[in-house]
Amino acid sequence: MLSGFLFSWWLCFSPYTTQAPAPEKPVNIVLIIGDGMGLAQIALAEYLYKPPSPLAQMEVIGLQKTHSATHLETDSGAAGTALSCGVKTFNAAIGVDADSTAVKSILEMARDRGMKTGLVVTSSIVHATPAAFYAHVTSRGSYEEIAAQLVATGVDVFVGGGEKYFADRYSDGFDLVESLKKKQYQVLHLDDPRGRANLESIRKEHKIACFTALEDPIRASMGRTYLPWMAVEAMDALEKRADKGYFLMIEASQVDWASHANDQEWLALEMQDAFAMMKGVLAKVREDENTLLIITADHECSYMSLKGKRSPRVEFSTKVHSSQMVPVFADGPGAEEFLGIYENTEIFKKMKDLLGL
Ligand code: MG
Ligand code: ZN
Repeated sequence: MLSGFLFSWWLCFSPYTTQAPAPEKPVNIVLIIGDGMGLAQIALAEYLYKPPSPLAQMEVIGLQKTHSATHLETDSGAAGTALSCGVKTFNAAIGVDADSTAVKSILEMARDRGMKTGLVVTSSIVHATPAAFYAHVTSRGSYEEIAAQLVATGVDVFVGGGEKYFADRYSDGFDLVESLKKKQYQVLHLDDPRGRANLESIRKEHKIACFTALEDPIRASMGRTYLPWMAVEAMDALEKRADKGYFLMIEASQVDWASHANDQEWLALEMQDAFAMMKGVLAKVREDENTLLIITADHECSYMSLKGKRSPRVEFSTKVHSSQMVPVFADGPGAEEFLGIYENTEIFKKMKDLLGL
């Protein structure tokens, strides 16, 4: 009796029982952004494609408010900057706050801490969403300046279009592809069959610049296929190089463009491509317990809704962005931080806190 009492007393005060388990922290973060991917765009994919949906397998769901400092209807520059830098700014801004002051991004913070960094997109690599993670300019259209800033940032692996802003520059005539090579980048072209080579075969000291088009990559509906497999290749390449973890942003860029164009067929194929990418990334994330996966959008586009009886028919209400909240899905260590309703800037803060940056 007494020993039972003593034992329960010991249990109450022993360090093994009074200490709450330390919150799980990720070593790596993969952030997937579907540009313009609101609930109706997601619902279209959920209705069209065979289960299991990758999003239905995510542990945690939250909602984010996407407004910018100046508009309820944000653009991708301000929304990208909110996600990457944690500040509300004016539409068209990239990596600067509402006073046009440069703000360090989560990618730059991760790099400064010795983590590896990557970007994989289906737009040009200098387009607003990826640019928000490494560039600091007041106008998203300054593509040649943004390209120069990408070279300076030293992102370890990047995949996307826009090679002409590096190779064929009006503003200064510099050859930034040569600059990349001088900085130990292996420059690949995805239209080149050798571009399909497994990234594992690339020597470890090389960074990877993989150009998928001179300007914007083609649509999924015209045969673009690289996003699902390059996303996983990039994770693999970063994982092999990283001894202090990595930060990777993957963007399904053209969900937005198909919504702007009010083109159901294009949108359906971009969402299918995005789902295929998410499936591969989620499977890879679940191979270990070190990686936090976050899937969200920067904003909704076209105030879209679904009509019809058996097969969904898309109704687009506008050709511009909306102010609707967009979902946030999270899986892996720290995922529970993403429950609830919050501003888009909170996503930056949560990622920063979880990585201890
Ligand atoms: Mg974008
Ligand atoms: Zn847009």
